[in-house]
Amino acid sequence: MSPEIIIGLEVHVELLTESKLFCGCSTKFGNPPNTNVCPVCLGLPGVLPVLNRKAVEHLIRTACALSCTIAPRSKFDRKNYFYPDMPKNFQISQYDLPLATAGKLSIVTAGGEKTITIKRIHLEEDTGKSVHKGTIDCSLSTLEDYNRAGVPLLEIVTEPDMRSPEEAHVFLTGLKDILRWLAVSDCKMEEGSLRCDANISLSPGDGVLGTKTEIKNLNSFKSVREALEHEAARQQKCLASGIAIVQETRGWDEKKSVTIPMRSKEAEYDYRYFPEPDLLPLEPGAQWIREFREALPELPAEKRERFVRDYRIPSYDSSVLTSSPAMADFFEATVRCGASPKAGSNWLMGDISRILNDKSLSLDETPLTPGRLAGMIDLVEKGTVSGKTAKSLIEEMLATGKDPLEIVKERGLTQISGEDAIQALVIEVAQANTEAMHSLRKGNEKVRGFLVGQVMKASKGRANPSMVNKVLDGLLGALPLPEARQDEDDHIRG
Ligand SMILES: [Zn+2]
Repeated sequence: MSPEIIIGLEVHVELLTESKLFCGCSTKFGNPPNTNVCPVCLGLPGVLPVLNRKAVEHLIRTACALSCTIAPRSKFDRKNYFYPDMPKNFQISQYDLPLATAGKLSIVTAGGEKTITIKRIHLEEDTGKSVHKGTIDCSLSTLEDYNRAGVPLLEIVTEPDMRSPEEAHVFLTGLKDILRWLAVSDCKMEEGSLRCDANISLSPGDGVLGTKTEIKNLNSFKSVREALEHEAARQQKCLASGIAIVQETRGWDEKKSVTIPMRSKEAEYDYRYFPEPDLLPLEPGAQWIREFREALPELPAEKRERFVRDYRIPSYDSSVLTSSPAMADFFEATVRCGASPKAGSNWLMGDISRILNDKSLSLDETPLTPGRLAGMIDLVEKGTVSGKTAKSLIEEMLATGKDPLEIVKERGLTQISGEDAIQALVIEVAQANTEAMHSLRKGNEKVRGFLVGQVMKASKGRANPSMVNKVLDGLLGALPLPEARQDEDDHIRG
């Protein structure tokens, strides 16, 4: 029997706040190095930290969304260690009394639904960033950028509940959805606002834990999955050949797709934790927590279920539409403006998403409104414009925000449904294609598409296709069959 894979995650999330955790410096990403700094975040002598209220609010809202127990009293601690990206030589974190514990998040994989337990969530400050020219082992110098030092971080630690790299991947995706939904973090992994360390061990069975390794600083969902897959295979190979697993910290080499040893794991006492003397204990108050709990928005999983139930759309549609709060709100507003849910969903998932992707825009960066989209869907359903015309309308609406009916009037795009107008077009096409007409008359339905296409072309896409077919059938009925071939034709149709 192959050993069971056991995975636990530590996720670091940079919080969306204007200023840092203990000072007023900006948290803006991408500013020139060492411009978002002050004596507090550089840890100069004689300065005092002041706690950012917004960061605590973000923690409490996240804890509520993940059904955590929130402690009435928690405190900050100093975690002492020397590293060049940490100018104070200690990091203010939370050690034995984190604010939130015992939460949960449900995940769904091919294997079914399961609940992952969140062990704890605490608040801490981020470190600075070491920059190397080339790779770390050949760089002539280490440059330090302290813009990130002091940015508020949530550390979310799970129990070792995951049993495959896939489960870890699904958990992270679900967590990211919630964090973005609550607007506590933008979760941009490429900018480092969501980073993940993964613990992995192989259990020989019967709940016995094997020796674990920790893979540090995974910076994309893809690397989390690939690094875990590689590490599981590596440990299995070691065990199979009788080599003991060493407890250590490993890094992920993305280019070579291998994990590599970084350092043996520090024991906790190496950090010499002690209570942070410059900050008061954190006592959020039951009333405050209750207010946050009650004001919590509907979360992605609940919304997905409600969309399927209330709007009777497929669960695939529902999961696409709930991929961001902006998309979900737009969809619901479009339906409220009178569009049928399926039509609204089709436009949003289809043409609109495609155009936005091409232009790297999000829905709220365009002037399109739910009312105008509903108006356009109405024009299609009433037959005022053809489906083809609607596609070009949506493009213009996304660019200009104009009213669909206004564009239709300006550009003369109304669908031609009048029998007389269509008859004129069909006759014109019939006269130019007598052979095809006779072929269709004899029952060769294949040429119908060609003839209807010619009429659509002649009308610049504005002819109502069902009316074209109706007029065409009428015309065919009036068309005389060649005498000599009457028998053969009867035979074919009989
Ligand atoms: Zn500062």
